[in-house]
Amino acid sequence: MKKLGVVFGCMLGILNAQAQQNADSVSAKPIPRKVKNVILMIGDGTGLAQWSAAQSKVPQKLHVFSLAEYLGLSLTSSSNNYITDSGAGATALSIGEKTFNYAIGVKSDSTPSFTLSELLHVKGKSTGLVASCGLTHATPASFYAHQPSRKMEKEIANDFYSGFIDVAIGGDYSLFDSSKLQKAGYDKFICSATPLQNIESTKFIAFYDTAKHPKKFMDGRGPFLRDASLCAIKNLNKNKNGFFLMIEGSQIDWGGHENDFNYVVSETLDFDSTIATVVEWAKKDGETLVIITADHETGGLALNGYDKNTKQAIGAWTTKQHTGIPVPVFAVGPGGELFGGVYENNEIFHKIMSLFP
Ligand code: MG
Ligand code: ZN
Repeated sequence: MKKLGVVFGCMLGILNAQAQQNADSVSAKPIPRKVKNVILMIGDGTGLAQWSAAQSKVPQKLHVFSLAEYLGLSLTSSSNNYITDSGAGATALSIGEKTFNYAIGVKSDSTPSFTLSELLHVKGKSTGLVASCGLTHATPASFYAHQPSRKMEKEIANDFYSGFIDVAIGGDYSLFDSSKLQKAGYDKFICSATPLQNIESTKFIAFYDTAKHPKKFMDGRGPFLRDASLCAIKNLNKNKNGFFLMIEGSQIDWGGHENDFNYVVSETLDFDSTIATVVEWAKKDGETLVIITADHETGGLALNGYDKNTKQAIGAWTTKQHTGIPVPVFAVGPGGELFGGVYENNEIFHKIMSLFP
């Protein structure tokens, strides 16, 4: 599988030529409002209980609740398990097919399949990834890598050098080779040395610091996710053909695995404040669709009371793993009307791609 990324990169060239042919022959379908940019925001492990737990902590309505124009439900099972992992969950969104647990950018028969990032890159858009975890972790990896297991971090990092991701911000500093990044045309930044606000580049990778993952929000990460999202948008938006950006609130899931209510709530509120900033930008732009969803729920969280002393809901957990309950899909902006209803997770890919015939 080691050379798969390189071979697959070459195949992109063929796809490029095909896309040009299609553009010449296809008559445009009517779309109610023009969509130029798509921002897909994934709260890992974020079901309705996680959103509601966060809501119980703050007096004002959550941004995700007040800004959403359309609401749907995504059914999250993988091809081989009622309970998905984050590899299969993100891959269903990125390639449009359900696959087996632990898979990254490959179909259920282990063959690689083009991701949203690759397909929209071919259509002339810039592509970006922002995560509050390592960039080879399952969710971001599913948008650029093609490997049979999420555990193959080195091979996953190697797939990044095929170069169709223009902007990537997150962790896993030590897994990315400086000379290979340079060869693939990337500027490289460390946020502690170069503040995100100062980054001006159309092709770069930026690391939170040199650790594997950015800190927990509770431990002082600060508004990294928000600032990274704005930095990605600012630089991706230099492309007049538009962009596709995936933003992950990565650690909501980790709080769920630890059955740590305050970890979940703090990460969810951080994600929600990022949503506010992203949607504010998108509304000003007017041609940007924002989709906010999850790959699955984590922890089987129930809210079965309210604590008047801590002034928040009381959480009860049913598992330290993921669950099979459907997760909400919130959409705002042009094309958002496609996301109402109840559908399988992989349909989200097809809904997005239908906006770019
Ligand atoms: Mg994740
Ligand atoms: Zn998880």
